[in-house]
Amino acid sequence: MRFRDLNLSEEMLSAIEEMGYTEPSPIQEKAIPVLMEGRDVIGRSNTGTGKTAAFGIPAVERMSRDGRGVEVLILCPTRELAMQACGEIRKFSKHMPWIKPAAVYGGASIEKQITELKRGANIIIGTPGRVMDHIGRKTLRLESLKEVILDEADEMLNMGFREDIEEILKNVPEERQTVLFSATMPPAILAITKKFQKDPVMVKIENKTGTVESIEQYYYDVPAGRKTDALSLLLMFWEPKLSMVFCNTKRMVDELAEELCTRGFKAAALHGDMKQAQRTQVMGGFKGGRISILIATDVAARGIDVEGVDMVFNYDLPQDMEYYIHRIGRTGRAGKAGAAHTLISGKKQFYDLRDIMRFTKAEITKGELPSAKDVSEKRLDRLCAEIKSAAQGEVVPDAQKLLERLEADGISARDAAIALIGEKIGESITQIPEIKREKFSSERYNAKVAKVVISVGRRQKIAPNYILGALVDATGMPGKAFGKIDIFDSHTTVEVPDEDKEHVIETMNDGKINGNKVTVRLFDGKREQRRENRKPFVKKDNRKKKF
Ligand code: ADP
Ligand code: MG
Repeated sequence: MRFRDLNLSEEMLSAIEEMGYTEPSPIQEKAIPVLMEGRDVIGRSNTGTGKTAAFGIPAVERMSRDGRGVEVLILCPTRELAMQACGEIRKFSKHMPWIKPAAVYGGASIEKQITELKRGANIIIGTPGRVMDHIGRKTLRLESLKEVILDEADEMLNMGFREDIEEILKNVPEERQTVLFSATMPPAILAITKKFQKDPVMVKIENKTGTVESIEQYYYDVPAGRKTDALSLLLMFWEPKLSMVFCNTKRMVDELAEELCTRGFKAAALHGDMKQAQRTQVMGGFKGGRISILIATDVAARGIDVEGVDMVFNYDLPQDMEYYIHRIGRTGRAGKAGAAHTLISGKKQFYDLRDIMRFTKAEITKGELPSAKDVSEKRLDRLCAEIKSAAQGEVVPDAQKLLERLEADGISARDAAIALIGEKIGESITQIPEIKREKFSSERYNAKVAKVVISVGRRQKIAPNYILGALVDATGMPGKAFGKIDIFDSHTTVEVPDEDKEHVIETMNDGKINGNKVTVRLFDGKREQRRENRKPFVKKDNRKKKF
């Protein structure tokens, strides 16, 4: 496919040519046509796949030539990304004098930005905090807005911009296009999608590394001794049709199977100590749907191929890192979406999990366990759907007769329905465990983790293992000590143990990575600065009025 086949204007085509792009990347090929139609889009693909052009080109193309006011707002997580995206948009619109992009971000003079906004900027690319700030000052007005784009939405949420984003989305015209790009799809993103997008089209580029990418992966930090309750909550909330739970020992498999059966789940154990006939029976039950939860050891599960496993749970972390891939590979088969949920308890398991993430390059997002209330609400939702679909089905003649008889006895259809629904609800009530969130939810371990910023990134062709190698080399610390490594265009962030942050900075600063001299500093300062910058307008009660 060529850009020419995408129905773009001549001005755009020549700008693209001047940029040296010869053909659209896969995400561009898929997203541009849908976006040109004006549809809402959820886009998923890895970094470096050309997302900026995927949303930037249609945004520019759809701008009106004689319009007034801001028509497009692009939100990015950082100043660097906002500047970069603005630069690209400028290039795409090089031959379109009616397009005036402007970048607004914290840590820079607001006066200059105000001047630019006043000069009639009509595509705004900015960080949520500063955008809120400008809205508050009325230097940015969004009445004419036609499109909002959330770039790297998951990253924005990670950085604590959720409230700002929601506030902005609540206060832009209802009639608009809403586009969201994200590398991962944690529940918080899905919530935003549900709340603010209309019938969005999913545009996804599968990563070549295989199945793992199509599987949503979460981990849960569970208080000691509460893993069975945590698992029960997840099973009750999601009600997967077929799921597999992995434990490391046969004994644990047996115990867990028994406990889950007691709690009313259709669960069964599978491990090497069982006789062949027993195993065959269990597998038959699982394939036939009589058993919906299969609890197994890695060895017993090897070679099992069941279609349609929609969830995998790691009750225990796998002892061998490669097992993680094997385990989660049980789900998400044949292009279907799957999910893997991993339960961890305690610091050691948290570090082991980080090792797995690094080894497998898996994106495992921290998840929140559903509360008992979440579970019961979800059940009511399901019951409601069930009743709705039954109501659309054929009427059983006897049911009709019975209802008439009841009505003759003075029981209305409504009374009958309420009684029956009540009974249904009663049936589904079982003991729902509750795990308190306050104590255990937030970053207990992360709290002891600091982040440092290293002044090299993608542009210097840096890969995570270079960074890790240099860190181990310079600090003398074990590779295990370092957490998530995120590589951006011109910088990289690394999680380091809080107590070692000074040591890391001292030994790494002014060193070299892959031939590049680097500076290293603490990440925190920037956050603080960002907070500083939007201080005047973050007061909640003022916010609404300022729009
Ligand atoms: P992402 O947002 O997916 O991480 P970017 O939009 O930043 O990716 O693009 C990554 C790089 O690829 C940029 O340097 C961009 O200019 C370049 N690029 C994007 N699309 C094309 C294309 N169709 N042909 C060649 N280079 C491209
Ligand atoms: Mg990008």
